[in-house]
Amino acid sequence: MHPKKIVTVIGARPQFIKASAVSACLADSGQLREVVVHTGQHFDPNMSAVFFAELGMDKPAYQCDIHGGGHGEMTGRMLNEIEKILLAERPDAVLVYGDTNSTLAGALAAAKLQVPVAHVEAGLRSFNMAMPEEINRILTDRVSRWLFTPTDGAAAHLAREGVDDSRIHPVGDVMFDVALHHGARTGSDGGMLGSLGNQRGISAGRYCLATVHRAESTDHPQRLAAIVDALTRFAREIPVVWPLHPRTRAVLARAGRLNALAQALVLVEPLGYLDMVQLEKHAALIATDSGGVQKEAFFYGVPCVTLRDETEWRELIEAGWNRLAPPVEATAVLAALRASLGTQGRKIAPYGAGDAASRIVRRLASELQG
Ligand code: UDP
Repeated sequence: MHPKKIVTVIGARPQFIKASAVSACLADSGQLREVVVHTGQHFDPNMSAVFFAELGMDKPAYQCDIHGGGHGEMTGRMLNEIEKILLAERPDAVLVYGDTNSTLAGALAAAKLQVPVAHVEAGLRSFNMAMPEEINRILTDRVSRWLFTPTDGAAAHLAREGVDDSRIHPVGDVMFDVALHHGARTGSDGGMLGSLGNQRGISAGRYCLATVHRAESTDHPQRLAAIVDALTRFAREIPVVWPLHPRTRAVLARAGRLNALAQALVLVEPLGYLDMVQLEKHAALIATDSGGVQKEAFFYGVPCVTLRDETEWRELIEAGWNRLAPPVEATAVLAALRASLGTQGRKIAPYGAGDAASRIVRRLASELQG
């Protein structure tokens, strides 16, 4: 049987992590051949190369260098490049992940060339059209042939939008697959936690881990100030470790807040996946505006405060694992951090059985070969 060709388009940190699970299954399938395109959206070694190395992924076949600029400029340049690659490769399907500009550019370039699109992490909605991610995910879902949903809620959103059942494939969350595989590899000894213990006196179970990277946090000075002030005050009660996303670092530096923050908190560079998992697993609390980190907190049984007005992962709020703290006012955010410390949610299993990647590959193989 001649293997069918899949072009995968990725470009941002969470996409490398999600793709690692699916790419491994594609390589094992024997029925499908994968050609990976990296758009270059994330390009720092600690935002990109580290994940390929740690998660055992091959170097992408195509490495573009597209980042920065406005959303339109970035997405437009990606469309231009991806279209050329698709015309040269003539794939049987294009695979995209999540909700970034790379996702939308990959989906749109393929759809216009009549190449069927598979969207992993389809159906998520924040119902907030001010988020660039919400626009990207709605448009990507609209043009995709296969909608691989991570949760029942995501599948229900698509059904409500009138998507035909035959396009919706509830498979579970590929991030859960990755967490099951790699989470088990990290203990509390050595690694980043070991170094932070030696250098800064951080110990397992006695720190809060924070991440902030979304435009809705970084592009609004008052919202960012509410987050920074709340974390600074919280750090007087429990150490706060914050791996700083490059965009957040740049905004804080421009606002002249970085030096004072470095005194109050434990600021570190963005972490590789295994160091990040280690810090997540052993945190007393996680405070984040990240989608992936909210779920990983739950995978490792750590309470989470989401520094946003809403979340796509409602089931974690309902089960008591996660609490929303809209970053409007520092005192309210601080109260949410304090209230969440030491809490545990209800036992739930909303993200499938940890076999989402193999289910995706089986579905694509059977439909493309059939
Ligand atoms: N992550 C990481 N190092 C960090 C921060 C996050 O490896 O310093 C991982 C995290 O464990 C999760 C993913 O990156 O798997 C989440 O990505 P991000 O927060 O950038 O995007 P989102 O999930 O919000 O789309």
